This record gives sequence, C-alpha cells and structure tokens, in this order.
Amino acid sequence: MSKSPRIAVIGAGLGGAATASLLLQEGFDVRVYEQAPSFSRLGAGIHVGPNVMKILRRIGIEDALNAQGSHPDFWYSRHGLTGDVLAQIPLGDYAVKTYGASYLTVHRGDFHALLIEALPERVMAYSKHLVGVTDRGHDVEMRFADGSVEHADIVIGADGVNSCIREELLGPEPPKYAGYLAHRAVFPTPEVKAGMLPFDACVKWWTDDRHMMTYFVTSKADELYYVTGVPVEQWDLNDRWLPSSKDEMREAFQGWHPTVQALIDATVEVTKWSLLERDPLPLWSRGRLVLLGDACHPMKPHMAQGAAMAIEDGAMLVRCFKEVGAHNHALAFALYEANRAERASKVQRISHDNTWLRTNEDPAWCFGYDVFSEPLVEPKAK
Ligand code: FAD
Repeated sequence: MSKSPRIAVIGAGLGGAATASLLLQEGFDVRVYEQAPSFSRLGAGIHVGPNVMKILRRIGIEDALNAQGSHPDFWYSRHGLTGDVLAQIPLGDYAVKTYGASYLTVHRGDFHALLIEALPERVMAYSKHLVGVTDRGHDVEMRFADGSVEHADIVIGADGVNSCIREELLGPEPPKYAGYLAHRAVFPTPEVKAGMLPFDACVKWWTDDRHMMTYFVTSKADELYYVTGVPVEQWDLNDRWLPSSKDEMREAFQGWHPTVQALIDATVEVTKWSLLERDPLPLWSRGRLVLLGDACHPMKPHMAQGAAMAIEDGAMLVRCFKEVGAHNHALAFALYEANRAERASKVQRISHDNTWLRTNEDPAWCFGYDVFSEPLVEPKAK
C-alpha cells in the first residue's frame, strides 16, 4: 500500500470541497469527482455560523468570507402579520467574543466559489458523474457516466441527497418529501417605504404554519435574499425545483406585514424548492466507503445548518484520519460516526420541527462548537 491512501471525494458541494481542502492540508492524496461541468452563482443565500467559520479559518478563507458577507448584529424573529419581535438573538461582536468567530450571511455562490478556489486545479475532476462503485476489499472501483473507471483506497460520498454512495451502502430509496416548499429569491435591496419596518439584516417572519427568512448576502447590503417554508401537500419528486412567481408569493403570504409585501413586490425572480429529508441512517460507512453531509443526513433547512453539518462532518472525518491513521479506515470511520451522529441527528430533528430561534434561546451549543477541540468519544462496541 502507498504511504498515503488515495482518497476520492465524490461531489464538490460545500461539504465535499471543504473536506478536500482539509485533507490536502494534512498531506493526504485527494481527488474530487464532481458531476457538474462547472459551477455558477446560483440564486441563494446561506448563513455561515461561528461553528463553520472556525473550520474556514483552517482552510484559509475566513477573512475573504468575512469581507464578502453581511454581519447581522441580531437574528430577529418577528410575527408575520404584526411584525412584533418574538426573539432577538445577539450575533455580531457578541458572536465573535462568545463563540470564537463571526456569524455571517452571504451569497451561497460566493461562498462556494471561495471553497473551490482554495483547491488546486489538479485535484478537481469535473463532468464526472459517478454511476457505480464496487468495494473490492483491497481498493474501490468507481465507474463514471462517461465510461471511465478509476480507483481509490477510500471513497467519501459527499454527493448530496440522492447520493450514489448511500445507495451502494443501503440500497435504492428516494428521500422523503417533507411536505414543504422553500421559495428562494435574491434581488437588489429595495428602498424602504414609509410605514414599513426598516429591513433587519437577518429576520425570520413566522406564523404557525409558514415562515419567511430574509437577510443580506453582501457586505454592502445591496443584495437581499429570502427563503420561505410553505406547506404544500403534493410534490413530484422528479422536480427538485420549479419557477415560482410574485402572484404565488402574494397568495402564500396574503395579509402579511407590509415589509413582507414590499419584499414580494421587489422580487425579480423566484424559484420554489422541494424540501427533502431522510430518517437517520443505520450506518454511515462500510468497508472503504463513508458518507458525509446531505448524503448522510439531509434535513429541512430551518436551522440554516445543513451545509454547516456537512462541513463539520468533513472536518471531523479528517481529524479521525489523523487520530488513528487513514490506513486504519474502519476505526477512523467508527470514531467519526461516534463523534458526529448525535449532533447531526439533533440538528436534523430541530430543523424538522422548525422551532430554532423562534423564541429567545441560547444557541451556544450549536454556534460555540469547535470540531477541532471537542473532546472525542470512543466508538461504541458493536
Ligand atoms: P450538496 O451541496 O448537495 O453537494 C453535492 C455535490 O455532489 C453537488 O455538487 C453535486 O453536483 C455532486 N454530485 C451529486 N451526485 C453526484 C454523482 N453521482 N457523481 C458526482 N458528483 C455528484 N445550509 C446551511 O448551512 N445554511 C443555510 O442557510 C442553508 N439554507 C438552505 C436553504 C434551502 C432552501 C435548502 C434546500 C438548503 C439549505 N441549506 C443551508 C442546506 C444546504 O444547502 C445543504 O445541507 C448542503 O448544501 C449540503 O452540502 P453537501 O456538500 O452535503 O451536498
């Protein structure tokens, strides 16, 4: 066996790209296989909490992201109809002081581009859609849609909610439609009109059955994003997303606060996404295959921590490789699962219930987590 095992990462999403960088930093032999021919700046925003920023510090992109993103002083929760404040969670300087890094909101495409730019070109293989994988005991054979075949010693499935690696481990099973759609729109910040609340830098508007989360995605606050959660009984799983419209938004948020109406009026383009989930998986790895992120624990996005969990997973996996040696992959994978499953499942559950920060609560267990210094627990004997 070579000195450093060959590690293949399937998928260069937020989780896969971050994991590949961390592996490279530790001197591992890494190759990333991504089905897309390239990436574009898709219309979506993302929260990046201090728990993730500490990992980005290690990757070397913390300062660049800090410069790009918006730094809200608070997460507000407001009543969707009246605008009354339901919760005011301190972020800004408080987050830096208390949790050890900033809390920011940013354009998802800008964040992803920084992660991709941090990777040397030689490790990236685009237009590589994995269609089959065989763990041959001494190595893994990977088969791609273009007919090519490659081999690695360890394969990390960071290939999202419809993961090919998950299917190899657990058989074909589509994810569950969670009964909710998320409308997503990014557009230039509209001018504040008289009679409306000023635009909070980060606010979630709630009623009992639906919500709209709004935040800036640039440091200049010139681009605004909203993402909703709206109950819709049926959805054809063949479509991950479809175009939506201002009229659909007006109908879904009829009678809501004037600020919400102004946001709908200012919308340029809006899409609607199905929200997908899986129950916690009975296993995260087998042989030379291991899962992370949405491949392993897809969740409703209502805690804004899905990508955070994917990136934390990657960081913990690399830590476990270092701890026991990547050649000892069975032990490394067991240690990884023992140190990730409980936290990821907790976040999955709270995301499902959609209760996070609706009222004042202490988010320290989530934002204060440092994957590099968290004491490791031993794997349970099987
Ligand atoms: P993905 O980002 O899905 O990446 C998977 C990658 O694998 C893709 O690049 C894909 O092209 C590639 N791939 C797939 N199959 C193959 C194959 N067979 N061969 C090769 N490549 C393949 N999370 C947050 O932390 N904060 C937020 O604010 C937030 N907001 C969200 C809002 C919405 C509406 C939604 C739907 C999600 C949100 N999330 C948020 C969750 C977050 O987007 C996901 O949890 C996160 O993207 C998971 O990262 P991943 O790397 O595991 O998977």
